[in-house]
Amino acid sequence: MQYFSTNHQSPEVDFKQATINGQAPDKGLYFPERIPAISKELIENITQYSNEEIAYQVMKPYVGDTIPEAELRRIVGETIHFDIPLVKVTDAIYALELYHGPTLAFKDVGARFMSRCLGYFVNQSTPGLAKKKKVTVLVATSGDTGGAVANGFYEVEGIEVVILYPSGKVSSVQEKQLTTLGKNIHALEIEGSFDDCQQMVKQAFTDEVLSQQLFLTSANSINVARWLPQQLYYFFAYKQWADKLHPPVISVPSGNFGNICAGILALRSGLPVQHFIAACNANDVVPQFMQTQQYLPKESVATISNAMDVGNPSNFIRILEIFQHQFADLENVLSSCSISDAATKATLQSVYQKNNYLLDPHGAVGFLGLEQYLQSHPDLKGIVLETAHPVKFYDVVEPVIGDLVPIPDSIQHQLSLQKKSVKMEAKGELLKRFLLELSGSQ
Ligand SMILES: *Cc1c(COP(=O)(O)O)cnc(C)c1O
Repeated sequence: MQYFSTNHQSPEVDFKQATINGQAPDKGLYFPERIPAISKELIENITQYSNEEIAYQVMKPYVGDTIPEAELRRIVGETIHFDIPLVKVTDAIYALELYHGPTLAFKDVGARFMSRCLGYFVNQSTPGLAKKKKVTVLVATSGDTGGAVANGFYEVEGIEVVILYPSGKVSSVQEKQLTTLGKNIHALEIEGSFDDCQQMVKQAFTDEVLSQQLFLTSANSINVARWLPQQLYYFFAYKQWADKLHPPVISVPSGNFGNICAGILALRSGLPVQHFIAACNANDVVPQFMQTQQYLPKESVATISNAMDVGNPSNFIRILEIFQHQFADLENVLSSCSISDAATKATLQSVYQKNNYLLDPHGAVGFLGLEQYLQSHPDLKGIVLETAHPVKFYDVVEPVIGDLVPIPDSIQHQLSLQKKSVKMEAKGELLKRFLLELSGSQ
C-alpha cells in the first residue's frame, strides 16, 4: 500500500515512511492510494472472530509488507489488550466504552499502535535514521493525546517524546498523566491555547536547523499509524451489535476528526453502518460546513469537553478525500451538530438519573447528538462512542451529578505523583531552543 499527500506535491511512500514522516513534506496529510475491501466472510461471521484476528485482518492491507506477519500480530495484540464493551443505555442507544485502556481514553489504541510500529522501524537499521540522531516525537495535545502518547511511548528504546499542552486548559487527571512519567517523556506547559501548541509544532517541523539536527516526527492524529487503527472500534462495535440486519447509527464526539474519519474509512471498506454523526461542542466549523458548504476555520473556544476544542480540525481534509470532495455523497453518510456546554451538562445529569449511566462530557455531547438525530429517525437505533472515562473530568462531572466519581485503582497512584513540566510562552523560538538542548544532551 502506498500513501499520497492530500496536497499532491510529495512523492508517494509506504506505511513505514508515512509513519516515520508523520506529515508529508508538502504539509499535506498522507492518505492510502486505495481503500481496501474487507472480506465479506469476515463481516458475515464477525462474531466468530477474536478481536485480535479482526484487528490483524483490518490493519494488514494498510501496513503492507513493511511489518512481518508475526510482528504485526504482536503489535495489534498489545494495542487492543483491554475490554471494549458495548453497553445498553436506553432502548435505542448503546455506548461503546473506549476508555478501558491505560490512560482511560480512546486515544490509547492509536498511541499504542503507533509507538509499537515506530519502535519496530527505529530498531531496524533504517536508512535516513542515522544512528546518532535519536527520534524525537513531537506532539501537541488538547487533553487526552498527551497522556496516551506519553504512556504508549514510555521507555520505548531510541525515542524521546516532547508533549506541548495548553496551561490551565487540561483537566487535573489529564495533566498528571502527561507530566508524571519522566524518563524519555518531556512535558511543556504552554501559555496559550491548543491551537498555539499545534502552531508551534507545525513550525518546528518546517524548521531547517531542527531537521538537520534532529529526527522529528509527529504523534498527532495526522500520523497514519495513529489514525488508521481507530477503525477497529467500529468493527468491534458491529461485532457486538445484535441486530445485524439494521446497522447502527454511530455518533462520534469529534474534535480533530481523526476518529470519525477512521470510522468512515471502515464503512467504505465494507463495514455496515447506517449513518455517522459528528457531534461537536461549541467549536462548530464542521457543523457550519455541513450547512453552508463553506469551510471557515476559527479560533478554538474553551469548553467542558476540552479534548474537542479544535478550531481547524486537521483530519477533515481526509474525510473530503474519501468522498472525492463530492458534497452530496458526504451528506448521505455524515451529519454534524454543535452542542452547548449547558446542554452537555443537562444530558450528563439526565442520563445519570434516568438511565443510571454515567457519561463523561465528550460522551454526553455524542449522546445528545445521537438522541437528536434519532428523534427525526424514530425507526433507527444507534451507538455513541464513549471516548473517555468520566473520572478524567471529575472536576466537571461531580458538581453536575452531585455525586463522587470513584477513581479506578489504575490511576490512584499516578494522581499522588509530583507534576514535572517546563513552562513556556507560546513562541516557536523557545520550542526550538528546547529541542536543540534536548538533542545536545543525548
Ligand atoms: C481526542 C478526543 C476526542 C476527539 O477525537 P478526534 O479524533 O480528535 O475527533 C473526543 N473525546 C475525547 C475524550 C478525546 O480525547
